[in-house]
Amino acid sequence: MTTLETHGEQHLTTAATHEHGWIVESSHPVSTGHVLYVRCVDCGTRRVDLQDHRHPAPVALTRELP
Ligand SMILES: [Zn+2]
Repeated sequence: MTTLETHGEQHLTTAATHEHGWIVESSHPVSTGHVLYVRCVDCGTRRVDLQDHRHPAPVALTRELP
């Protein structure tokens, strides 16, 4: 007989499961557009985006940095 136990240890994954609300902390111009330093207002995760002037949406340059 097998006993399966599940423990509720999901509380550390909150930052990875919510939808980040990015704000731009700073930016500077580069040859292809602007580099945006963004931070999630909810969990403080940081990321660097490239806002290419030829494309409307920023592209993430880095993974999310907790
Ligand atoms: Zn977040």
